[in-house]
Amino acid sequence: MNTNPQIPVTLSPGLLLVLSAPSGAGKTTLARMIQKAFPQADFSISYTTRAPRGAERNGVDYHFVDEQTFNQMIDDGQFVEWAEVHGHFYGSSRATVDKAFASRGIAVFDIDVQGGNAIKRKFPDAVLTFILPPSLEELERRLRARGTDADDVIRRRLLAARNEVQKGSDTYDYLIINDRLDDAFRQLESIVIAERSRRGRVDLSALRLQPS
Ligand code: ADP
Ligand code: 5GP
Repeated sequence: MNTNPQIPVTLSPGLLLVLSAPSGAGKTTLARMIQKAFPQADFSISYTTRAPRGAERNGVDYHFVDEQTFNQMIDDGQFVEWAEVHGHFYGSSRATVDKAFASRGIAVFDIDVQGGNAIKRKFPDAVLTFILPPSLEELERRLRARGTDADDVIRRRLLAARNEVQKGSDTYDYLIINDRLDDAFRQLESIVIAERSRRGRVDLSALRLQPS
């Protein structure tokens, strides 16, 4: 029986894991490793009104939709959060959350800090994890070494990074400094394992306990 009035009795059975980071900090790399380690993890594919870039594929990187469709989806309550970023709309689908709750699964969101905070307001036991580079100099080095962005894009990303790092480190539940990749992954994996072991998320139905 739960005798501690400070602790809420019921957590959502599924885990909502939000990953945010300034661009270049290693979020995509870590998200891929999580997907491999936890096959039950379901990545939220956001809806966006921006056009596909480069090799991006519809239904894989994003669901690309026009503004009319996006507005209709807002009206129909199909997003758990949505935001305007650089003049385009982005939204996280409610279906991913419903599925995680129904199956005790893990829904992984790769969204910015404002999106993460919006999810936390709606689902207070969502887990917000922020990936940090060891320094802004190292962030710049990684962005250049990745070789996907032009010079002006890198400058813009570095300017945005300072602000995003400040907001993420002020509001997120967990902060991971991605210095050595293996260490950062171990930290992220430990967070997922610990959060999935929390009372309320573990399936006890086979034990046929009395409700508390
Ligand atoms: P993001 O998705 O946050 O923009 P990426 O996962 O694309 O970042 O990583 C940016 C670059 O840094 C990639 O080239 C990646 O291989 C590299 N990288 C990621 N983690 C590390 C690390 N711990 N040490 C060195 N390089 C890293
Ligand atoms: P990009 O257009 O470069 O893919 O993404 C631009 C920004 O939008 C990134 O910071 C990304 O994290 C954020 N983003 C992507 N999908 C969503 C979403 O569904 N909701 C919110 N709030 N932000 C998103």
